Amino acid sequence: MKTKSDLQATLRRIDRRGYKAYKDIAGAYDLGVCNLYIDRVQGDPFAAPSLVRLRVPHSAARFPAHLFSNRVRRIALQDYLIRIAYSEIRALRRRFPVGGSGKSGHLDIDVGGQEVIERSAALVTSDFVELRLAVGLPAAGRTVLGDEAARLLLQALPALAERALYYSRYDGARIGSFIDTVENFAAIQADLPARRLIAFVADGSLLPRAAGNTQLPLDSSRAVLFESPPSLRVCFEVPNQLPHKWGGGNRICGMGLPEGVTLIVGGGFHGKSTLLDALALGVYPHVPDDGREYVVTRPDAVKIRAEDGRRIEKVDISGFISLLPGGRRTDCFSTDDASGSTSQAANIVEALEAGSRLLLLDEDTSATNFMVRDARMQALVHKDHEPITPFIDRVRELYSELGVSTVLVMGGCGDYFDVADTVLMMREYRAVEVTSEARRVAAEIPSRRSQEVGRPLGRITPRVPQSRSIDASRGRKEVKIDIRGMDHIRFGQHDIDIRQIEQLVDPSQVRAVGFAIHLAGSRAMDGKRTICEVLDWTDSLLDSHGLDALNPFARPGSHPGNFARPRRYEIAAALNRLRTLKVRPAANVDSFS
Ligand code: ADP
Ligand code: MG
Repeated sequence: MKTKSDLQATLRRIDRRGYKAYKDIAGAYDLGVCNLYIDRVQGDPFAAPSLVRLRVPHSAARFPAHLFSNRVRRIALQDYLIRIAYSEIRALRRRFPVGGSGKSGHLDIDVGGQEVIERSAALVTSDFVELRLAVGLPAAGRTVLGDEAARLLLQALPALAERALYYSRYDGARIGSFIDTVENFAAIQADLPARRLIAFVADGSLLPRAAGNTQLPLDSSRAVLFESPPSLRVCFEVPNQLPHKWGGGNRICGMGLPEGVTLIVGGGFHGKSTLLDALALGVYPHVPDDGREYVVTRPDAVKIRAEDGRRIEKVDISGFISLLPGGRRTDCFSTDDASGSTSQAANIVEALEAGSRLLLLDEDTSATNFMVRDARMQALVHKDHEPITPFIDRVRELYSELGVSTVLVMGGCGDYFDVADTVLMMREYRAVEVTSEARRVAAEIPSRRSQEVGRPLGRITPRVPQSRSIDASRGRKEVKIDIRGMDHIRFGQHDIDIRQIEQLVDPSQVRAVGFAIHLAGSRAMDGKRTICEVLDWTDSLLDSHGLDALNPFARPGSHPGNFARPRRYEIAAALNRLRTLKVRPAANVDSFS
């Protein structure tokens, strides 16, 4: 490993030379306070910034072992280090101003939002703690500014390491409670199946957000805090002592939603969608003070919506839709331009194919004709001319035959009273359990609609994705995957529209989805593995090798770029929206000829 004076000497030597001379600084340096690894050097001052890492061994960093004693705690610690580094960087930018053209002096770390997800921006192993950063190497026009680079690399970065990679600089109580909160969340989540619950919302949770374009909490003076209806109240023992705000001790109580079919009813603007959205993001842990840190949903929950215009590739939606005009098949349905109802049916079947056993639906984002056909419509439009078996006639069967629970927001149609196990009413942002009242109403006012189930829903027909349909190349680049915020993945020459995949929460997660699809396409799709098996393969690779495995061009251990861990359901959702995707039916399934 080279030394600080080696780096100083190189910077002096290349000062005022062409920008390409920066390539000479790549390598590993012992800076005393930390090791600096310069992994990727940008080609010019306007290109994507250079990638570096700062590493301190545990023997010097001295983070207590209990902060990373298991996987959940390690990921929470990594996340916390990134958040601290992020705020320190802002202070350092003022202390060590670095100027120049293009991205000169840029210094950044990929910090998360309200969710705590595994990220590539920090790594804690049994040997060291490490931050992965982006830096803009300083230039005047296109010539190297050696002094400015020295200020950035040899002053700002060591100052950052000193503040963000040494435990002595941390508030022990805060870091401990951050990690404890995430671990408590994970413990409740792991407990849900044995308790036959699909979700838990702690009393005192603050669900509404400050505005429609942010995930930050609504000011608590304006929010009604969640309180469980007495009949649904459950308690969980958690491994770490709770903060005072959550009652202290190791026991937390709130609403437990049972498996089966849950209906959320109530007047418009009374908080129904807010509760459902909190459940949808309750698959992820949240930072303390988010308000939703003890909203916990089973990790396989998938939000389902209508999404007209999307592509569908050979999905068996015949359980919901049959007899399309023109004799079009629906047991192997493909289209480049789905309707509201066909897209919603495909979204359900694909979620189940990927392994979900919990569906979340909101009337606000559902196709009306997919959700229900009432008695009068049944009388006017005969079943023989209506291809849709509405969700209301499948939702019980989903649970009894496939073990799939549903939570449904439905303020507009009481026909669903007949099929619900639990009915929750939101009234002025307060949850009231009204299951027996709903049953009584259902008995007193029969819906008169007839059930429209023909043949049973059956199993999900597995599909085998074809690796040659996954092509990430563009121009001269073998792999070119970029993201456009939370809207699109530019995958090779194709755009994947991800705007309706609601449980993606982070641009780095989106980038990871793009790279995961490429990785799966090149290594896991062997013409035999089904989509579910490909997702198993991807999950186990990410579990064992971490997010660094996503970038095929990064040397093992080097900065792989900014990734955050996606769930398999979002990888599947993006794959299913790739317009070039080709699948064939699994060989051992003959119903899919
Ligand atoms: P619905 O789906 O029942 O029509 P929403 O969930 O969309 O209603 O909520 C309507 C508005 O009320 C939103 O602006 C939301 O932020 C706000 N809101 C939701 N829950 C609460 C709450 N517990 N306290 C205060 N405001 C809330
Ligand atoms: Mg709503």
